[in-house]
Amino acid sequence: MSVSPAPPGKVWLVGAGPGDPELLTMKAYALLTSAAVLAFDELVSPAILSLTPDVAERIPVGRRAKGCRHHEARIHPLVVERALQGKDVVRLKGGDPLIFGRGGEEVAELAAHGIPFEIVPGITAALGAAASAGIPLTHREHASMVTFATAHAAHDEEVGASRHERALDVPPHGTLVFYMGLARLEPTCVALVARGRPRETPAAVVAQASLPGERAVFGTRADVAARAREAGLEAPAILFVGEVVSQATSRLPAFDAQGDARWSSPKLK
Ligand code: SAH
Repeated sequence: MSVSPAPPGKVWLVGAGPGDPELLTMKAYALLTSAAVLAFDELVSPAILSLTPDVAERIPVGRRAKGCRHHEARIHPLVVERALQGKDVVRLKGGDPLIFGRGGEEVAELAAHGIPFEIVPGITAALGAAASAGIPLTHREHASMVTFATAHAAHDEEVGASRHERALDVPPHGTLVFYMGLARLEPTCVALVARGRPRETPAAVVAQASLPGERAVFGTRADVAARAREAGLEAPAILFVGEVVSQATSRLPAFDAQGDARWSSPKLK
C-alpha cells in the first residue's frame, strides 16, 4: 500500500527592513511572531529576532552582514527540507528580499521543488538610510531618477578592473545609491569620475540606518570615503551620491573633517 506524501509547507520570503522593528510591515510582524520555523540571515537585527520567542526552530543562514557573497546553495537546504516535511517556514531577510537579497534565486529553487511561496516586501536599506539622513532620493530640481547599485561586485582578485567598470555602469544623472560598499568606498568614488560625477558632487555614507548605532557622514564624491574612514563607520553602510544629498535635513549627527559630531543640517563646502 503506498502512502501519498504530505503536501509541502509554504515558505514566506519576508523583508525585515533595515533593522528597527517598527519598520517591519504588519504582515512581516504577524508572520514572524507566529512562525514555527524561522530562517534568518545576519543582517536581521537582534531587536527583530527578539520578537520571536515562540519559534520552535531557528535556522541561522550564514551570511556576512558586510556583504551578500555566499557560496552555499541558492537557498539553505534546511528550508527546503522543512517545507518538504510539510512545515511552514518564514525566511526573514534584511531590507527587501528582492533587492540584492538573492530572493529571486531562492524562489526559483522553491518553485523547482514544488514548494508554494509568498514574498512579503520590506523597506530596503536605501529607503531606510535616506529617511534617517533626510536625503530626498528624488527632487524636482535635482534628480528625476534613482539607481540602486552595488559596489561589491568588484572583488578584484577574481574579476579584475573591467568587471568593476561594468559594475559601476551607472547613469551620469540622478541619484546613485551603492549597497555593500563600505570596503570599496574609495575605488567606487574614484570610478565615478568616468561616470560624469565631478569631485564636488555631494555624497554621504549612512551606517547602521535605523539601528541604535546609526551614523551619517556627509562630504563630496572626492572626500566622503576618507571622511567615512576617519569617522570609523561600521557596516552595514550605504553610499549616496548626487545633488539631492545637498538637500539633506539630517537628524543624525554629521561628522566634520576632524570627525567631530555636530547636530545640524549638513553644509557642503
Ligand atoms: N536586501 C537588503 C540588502 C542586502 S545587501 C535590502 O534590501 O536592504 C547588504 C547591504 O545592504 C549592506 O552591505 C549595506 O550596504 C546595506 N544595508 C543593509 N542594512 C543596512 C542598514 N541598516 N544601514 C545601512 N546600510 C544597510
